[in-house]
Amino acid sequence: MPESRVLICPDQTRTFPGHTLSGHFFVTCISRNQMKSLLIILTLVIFLPSDQEEVRNTRARSQMVKSQIVARGISDPATLRAMERVPRHLFVPVALAGSAYSDQPLPIGYNQTISQPFIVAYMTELSKPAKGKKALEIGTGSGYQAAVLAEIVDTVYTVEIVPELAREAASRLKILGYGNIVARYGDGYKGWPEHSPFDIILVTAAADHIPGPLKEQLAEGGRLVMPVGNPATVQELIVLTKRKGRITEQRLEPVRFVPLKRLK
Ligand code: SAH
Repeated sequence: MPESRVLICPDQTRTFPGHTLSGHFFVTCISRNQMKSLLIILTLVIFLPSDQEEVRNTRARSQMVKSQIVARGISDPATLRAMERVPRHLFVPVALAGSAYSDQPLPIGYNQTISQPFIVAYMTELSKPAKGKKALEIGTGSGYQAAVLAEIVDTVYTVEIVPELAREAASRLKILGYGNIVARYGDGYKGWPEHSPFDIILVTAAADHIPGPLKEQLAEGGRLVMPVGNPATVQELIVLTKRKGRITEQRLEPVRFVPLKRLK
């Protein structure tokens, strides 16, 4: 059976015989347009599986919003839209991507976790996010909660105490195009005074009290949401509201978060 070779020839398709010292072969001439079509088909063949993967993930995310979030009473349209948009499977370790839309927290390394989707949605709704607002998150972790907030508010500042997680989250958020998130490594107990006051402060790690600096950095009319209680067992979700300089406190559901650490 003689070999076959393909050449691009201007505006013609034909096959003709050729030969080398080692034997005969056929040369098939195809036009530029045919080559373009071939390349498009090749690209589709290479990328189709990942497109299907995206469709699967989008469906799983919609299902998650319906069955875990709407079904449990979250109704703020902006929060629901944000939960529909953020690709949670890109915020968990690759080996756990298949569980990204399940109803549970997942490990993200360094003894830390990405919160259960419902908790993220619940804290987001409680913070009353809206366009024009500025938010501070303490405990960047994977960056997922920051991304959910960033879908709604103008700017999110987020602080993480584990340097490796801070670095990973910052590069993940940059790759995903979240240009309105400013992430840094540090001890979030002290907040981020340079950018205060904040309309929203979300603390996604637990302590037995609300850090004083965070209360100070809350804007007039602002809301702070944080798990407060025994960091080793169970806490309550607390919402602080600042009005005319006075702070009022609302105690909500029991929750379980990893402890808020301090830099020595
Ligand atoms: N919001 C994260 C999950 C939070 S897990 C997400 O969406 O993935 C809690 C995170 O808080 C952990 O990453 C932990 O390292 C971080 N943390 C604990 N104490 C902190 C502190 N004092 N300042 C900043 N981050 C802290």
